Amino acid sequence: MADTLRRPGQQTLPRRLSRCAIPLALAFVTACGGADEGQGRPGAQSAGDSVFPRLGNGGYRVEHYGLTLDYRPEDNLLEGKAVITARATQDLSAFSLDLKGLRVREARVAGRTAHTSRKGTKLTVRPRQPVAREAEFTTEISYRGTPQTVHDVDGATEGWVETEHGAVGLGEPEGSMAWFPGNHHPSDKAAYDITVTVPKGYTAVANGELRQQETKGGKTTFVWHNGEPMASYVASVAVGEFRITRGRAGRLPLYIASAPGEEAAAERMNKVLPRVLDWETGLFGPYPFSSAGVVIDRNEEVHYALETQTKPYFQEPPDDKLVVHEMAHQWFGNSVTLRDWRDMWLNEGFAQYAEWMWEEKEGGRTVRQTFDDYYDGKDPESKGPAGEDIWSYPPATPDAEQISGRPVYGRSAMMLQRLRETVGDSVFFDVLRTWVREHRFGNVEAQQFFALCEAKSGKGLGEFFRTWLYMAGKPPRS
Ligand code: ZN
Repeated sequence: MADTLRRPGQQTLPRRLSRCAIPLALAFVTACGGADEGQGRPGAQSAGDSVFPRLGNGGYRVEHYGLTLDYRPEDNLLEGKAVITARATQDLSAFSLDLKGLRVREARVAGRTAHTSRKGTKLTVRPRQPVAREAEFTTEISYRGTPQTVHDVDGATEGWVETEHGAVGLGEPEGSMAWFPGNHHPSDKAAYDITVTVPKGYTAVANGELRQQETKGGKTTFVWHNGEPMASYVASVAVGEFRITRGRAGRLPLYIASAPGEEAAAERMNKVLPRVLDWETGLFGPYPFSSAGVVIDRNEEVHYALETQTKPYFQEPPDDKLVVHEMAHQWFGNSVTLRDWRDMWLNEGFAQYAEWMWEEKEGGRTVRQTFDDYYDGKDPESKGPAGEDIWSYPPATPDAEQISGRPVYGRSAMMLQRLRETVGDSVFFDVLRTWVREHRFGNVEAQQFFALCEAKSGKGLGEFFRTWLYMAGKPPRS
C-alpha cells in the first residue's frame, strides 16, 4: 500500500527516517509524519482561476475518479465513496479537495486513515506520511448526506437537483462538489468510473458507457465507464424513472434516457443524433468519445441544457438546434477544454456558431443573415432578460455572473463569422479541425486560438480579436 507513496527508485523508507529516534514506528508518526522540515508542504487551495478563484487545488493532478454512489430518491440521501488516484506535483504534506456539504465519514490515503479538516468548500486531507513529488497516490473518501442544490451568482441552479421523478447532478461551473469530492477545476481532467445503486425501477445514468447493470435485493446497480479525460463540470449522474432507447450513429453506440411521457422525444433523438453527429464530424473532425446519447428529463428547477460528457442533459425535450449546440460542446469544451473560466467564449462561441451553420444547412437563415439579425438586435437571442444585450460587456473578460450571458454566446459567434469572412472558408475550417485535433483531450487558452488563426491565415489578427472579444461597446459593422 505504501508503495503508492514512493517515487520510482526511492527506498522503502524515506531517507529522513534514519535520523529519527528509535523506536522507528513511533518516531515516524510523531516526528517525521507531518509537514516538518522539508517533508513537503500543503498543496495550494486554488487552481488560480481568474473568475472562480475558490475552485480547484494544487500540488497534484487527478488521473482517475472511482465513484461508488448509493442514492435514495425517496429521502434524497446520497452515500458515496470516492477513490481518487492522483499524481503529486510537489512533495505534499497535505492537500485539499473541493466538497460542498455532505458529511465525511472516513478518509484514507494509500490505505491508511488520514486526518481531515473542512473549511468552506475545502476538504483538507493530511496523510500520515507525506506524498513524494511524482508519486501516484490513492485517496478514498467515504461520505454521506443530503446533497446541496447550488445557486449561482447568475441565478442559475446547479449542483444536486431533485426532479419530479429522481435527481440530477449538474456541475457548471461549481456544482460537482455538491455530489463528490474532487479537484473541481476544468484544468485537471481525469478518467471516471461511476457506479450508482438506486431502488429497483429507477435508472441511474452517468457519463460514458454502461458496463453492467444488476438488480439484487430491490436495488439496481449501474456501472458506467468514462475512459477519456473529463472535466468535473461535465461529469453527471441523473436518476429517474427513465425509459431507455438504444441506437447507433455509425459505429458509435447511442444511449437515450427519457423521462416518463417523453417517448416521442426519445424517438426523435434517435433519428436526429446520428444526423447531427455525422454533420459535426464532417465539420470538426472525428467525434472525440466512445459513445454518445442524451438525457431528456423533466426538471422545473433547471432552465438550461448542459453538455454533460457523452450525454448532454436536457431539462425538457430540446429542438434540433439545441442538440446541435450541446453535441458541438463535445468537441468544443469537453474534448478541448478551457483552462480558465474567463475563456468561456471558447466553449459557447463555437457551440452557438454550430447552431447558425445548422440552421443554414437546414434551409433557414444563412449564417450571414443571422449575424446581421444579431447585429441589428432583431434576433431574440441577442437580447437577454433585464435589458442585458449582446453589447453589454466584452465576451472574453466576463465576471462570474456573466459567463453564461449573451455576449459570451452571441458576440463570440459573431466574431467567428467575421473571422471566417476575413480568412476564407478553407482556412477557417482548417483552423477548427486543427484546433480540435491538436488539443484533443487537453486544455486551452484564448491566446493559442489567436496564434493558430494567425499562423494558418498569415494575417495579423490582433486588432480584429481585440475589437470583437475585448473591447467594450458595439464593434463597427465593417
Ligand atoms: Zn453552450
